[in-house]
Amino acid sequence: MWGGPKEVLPKEIAVPITVMRCEVCGTNHTRPHQEQDFVFKKLKSFCPKCNAETEMVVVSIHVEEKKQKT
Ligand SMILES: [Zn+2]
Repeated sequence: MWGGPKEVLPKEIAVPITVMRCEVCGTNHTRPHQEQDFVFKKLKSFCPKCNAETEMVVVSIHVEEKKQKT
């Protein structure tokens, strides 16, 4: 079922963030969470410190809630 009138976008936008650590230099990097991400998953990603694509491991996934200030 799609587009039911009960579905309303929440005012608070939850933005999941994936934190991953470069296995080469040990630096943590963040990027917007992707559906297939999970903690301890290994993936290849570009490390700006190594200036190369390296193997990284996801160390945490958390949600940052952007709340509108009144
Ligand atoms: Zn690195």
